[in-house]
Amino acid sequence: MIKDCDWIITQDERRRLLKKTSVLIRDGVIEDINRDLNGGDMIIAGKGKVLMPGLINTHTHISMSLLRGYAEDLPLDRWLKEKVWPIERKLTEKLCYVGALLGCLEMIRTGTTCLVDMYYHAGAIAKAVKKAGLRGFIGQGLIDTVSDDRTSDESLRESFLTAAYKTVKIIQELNDSKIKPIVAPHAPYTCSDELLMKSQVMAEEFDTLIHIHLTETRREQAMFQRNYGYSVVEYLDRIGFLNGKVLAAHCVWLTRRDIELLARRCVKISHCPISNMKLGVGGVSPIPELVESGVLITLGTDGPASNNTLDMFETMKIAALLQKHNRWDPSVINAQQILDMATVNASGSLGLGKIVGRVEKGFEADLILVDIRSPSLQPIHSSDSLIANLVYAAKGLSVDTLLVQGKPLMLKGVFQTLDEEEVYGLVEEALEELDIKPSSNS
Ligand SMILES: [Zn+2]
Repeated sequence: MIKDCDWIITQDERRRLLKKTSVLIRDGVIEDINRDLNGGDMIIAGKGKVLMPGLINTHTHISMSLLRGYAEDLPLDRWLKEKVWPIERKLTEKLCYVGALLGCLEMIRTGTTCLVDMYYHAGAIAKAVKKAGLRGFIGQGLIDTVSDDRTSDESLRESFLTAAYKTVKIIQELNDSKIKPIVAPHAPYTCSDELLMKSQVMAEEFDTLIHIHLTETRREQAMFQRNYGYSVVEYLDRIGFLNGKVLAAHCVWLTRRDIELLARRCVKISHCPISNMKLGVGGVSPIPELVESGVLITLGTDGPASNNTLDMFETMKIAALLQKHNRWDPSVINAQQILDMATVNASGSLGLGKIVGRVEKGFEADLILVDIRSPSLQPIHSSDSLIANLVYAAKGLSVDTLLVQGKPLMLKGVFQTLDEEEVYGLVEEALEELDIKPSSNS
């Protein structure tokens, strides 16, 4: 029982806000929402708090938590080639597991209940997510070409595909209904047509999502235009890659035609404003036009090496500000639309639209309590200002309690499934292994 919440942001069909209301959860599912509720084996006090759906991060690489602050202030090309790729070559299953534990800790602390992740050693990441108790869609990143003409390296392709099938098997064996495998071809410029289409076959085989980076940089768009005479999106459509199973991260560089195509093929988007700004990709994803065309927009942090946090509250705020700033128009997007992206839109994009993303009877209890007895979250003038406060003023650290399927992963700021100190200890060891321990005089 979550008793007497000051407010509940339901995110239901009518976007109702309830005052002084309690929520009863049984077997992980919301059984009742009412003013006068009694019972419950465990009571969580909602006084001074806002109850809302847990946030959903639809694009990240949580193991990159280990690389937070390691590669800074470099152009994307040099960032990847000089810093990120060389260190990633040293990553082992164990290191990815440790990085993922740190990522889970941060997500729990900052109000994220569900993530979509693509990385190396994805089976190890899934194990960390299970240990943390979070909900996750996890895939092995796939790459088979590094040349501008996208010539496929067959042995590379086969080794990545083998790893991807192994990941699916590991996830199936975890036997956790909250953790699902996805297929994750890295990007059109790092995957040959063969690999892209094999990804489609695999997604069909396991009835799962395809997650891919798409038009993050102008360079990618220029490369396809030069080599094929089509934009990346048009090209992907011509080879039959685009469909409703695709969740595409970034989508910064798009033409009008691309937007129409993405809408027609029901492709979902994970907008990652902070990563785009920090890596200086130069463009701004045309969110207003995408929304107008009916494309489902969700939000992602991207990896902690290019953000540098997994705080979805921060991402919500920046997503709003970036569009307002870019269009010289504060009305181009509003707080409610942004909150929708991080909750109901995201659950819909993952096929969980009737399962999570709302505080509603029959929905699974993936919920967070935000402490509003805090200077930056007072006063609350009206229901509109409540949503505005959460999107523009709340921080991840404002989150007090987090539940997934009704199970508390954090209560009053105290972790319930992970041992914070133990994780920091493992991270120290991991840095030594990676040989990126900070120098003693720093
Ligand atoms: Zn990414």
